[in-house]
Amino acid sequence: MLISQHYASKLWTNHERKAAQARALLTDAEYVLPIRLDKTEIPGLLPTTMCLYWPPETSETIAEAVRKKLSQLVGITPQGKQTDREGAGSKKSDKPTIRSFQISLEKTYGTANKDLSIDYVYGYLCRTVGYLSKSVSKRNAVEKDFIRPISWLVTFASQVGSDLQDSFISRYSGRCPSCVQAPCVCFKTDKKPPNEMPAYQVNEELYMSRNMIMNSKATVDFDYAKRCIGSVFPNNEIIWHHAGPGFHFSKLAEEAAEVHEAVSGLVTGRKNVKAVSDELADVLAWILGAWYIVLPRKSVDQEIVNYYFNGCPVCQRKQCRCKPYSRRPQNLFDSSVISDLGQRLNQLLALSPISKEEIEELSKSVLAVIETQGDPLARLLISQLESKLSRLKDRYMGTHEAETCVPLISIMLNEIQKVYYQ
Ligand SMILES: [Zn+2]
Ligand SMILES: [Zn+2]
Repeated sequence: MLISQHYASKLWTNHERKAAQARALLTDAEYVLPIRLDKTEIPGLLPTTMCLYWPPETSETIAEAVRKKLSQLVGITPQGKQTDREGAGSKKSDKPTIRSFQISLEKTYGTANKDLSIDYVYGYLCRTVGYLSKSVSKRNAVEKDFIRPISWLVTFASQVGSDLQDSFISRYSGRCPSCVQAPCVCFKTDKKPPNEMPAYQVNEELYMSRNMIMNSKATVDFDYAKRCIGSVFPNNEIIWHHAGPGFHFSKLAEEAAEVHEAVSGLVTGRKNVKAVSDELADVLAWILGAWYIVLPRKSVDQEIVNYYFNGCPVCQRKQCRCKPYSRRPQNLFDSSVISDLGQRLNQLLALSPISKEEIEELSKSVLAVIETQGDPLARLLISQLESKLSRLKDRYMGTHEAETCVPLISIMLNEIQKVYYQ
């Protein structure tokens, strides 16, 4: 950037500056080298940004500095170029782009998802978003809690014929889609651009930023998108640290609701795919925004590669053959495990001469849980089974029945861990 009083006043140079700054936020490498011709203040240019002054620099010394910078870039660009040219999932880079991940999910789940309705997929999106919210508020969120809703979001995009990577870049091209600034200043401007910019121009600006990213050699993967959200919306992290994740997750729930509204519009012909795509991009933005805060050191792309290393993580096949609604239970008890426990209790009753009454009581409780399917009741049963069976196990130690009863109780204590899949 050749900075002068004219630079500050011209439309194009300002556009160039904003694009360069947006891009600089997304890269770890030095990206902007400002050359100052006078002392004009440039908005958004931090005093800590290294720059050259001309004078005392001369055209020769600046040319030499640029030449040096470019030769340093040789070490950086080839990698970016290769991943771009060879496409995602190439041998050079196993980390997926958003698009290549969408394609690979289509391959893994294409057959299994073929007959699923939009509402089915939407249901799972909401379910996994809800459980993400729960694990974050309990402060025990791990990578898979994020990867599940991201995966359903990607599946949803495929179902409506939307390209999530393009949706994201079109909406979050390194700036906030509402105020068109980076970082976002919506809290000051009530979600409007600060300079009364007409709506059509907002659209043009965002479109130009999108093209800038598309034409650059940047690999648009989930980590890129995550960095973009983190740097454009630093206030989200401040709010989170002061007031907890509640605000963040109420926004995420709101965006998930808007996905349903947009898709209803799509079905009835009042909205187009672009409208749905925008909402999907918003959901992705809030999920990645949460990842950025909760797991700052974890790479989304790497964790996705690990999660899907063996194909479908449920059936462990490269082409999933899971039946609809067969996904693992996560928050409600697994009835089949409870039934198994009931059967083992009856076995124990047949073997055991002691504590018959206690075992009968537990057996009755198992029946009550199976009949009512009540989750609080199941949690109560589990804790009673755990404590009573452990005591029973101690009582059998050293008796004649130890050999038969103790292993059976050990199996039951093990099974109890499976009632709630984590
Ligand atoms: Zn904003
Ligand atoms: Zn499967």
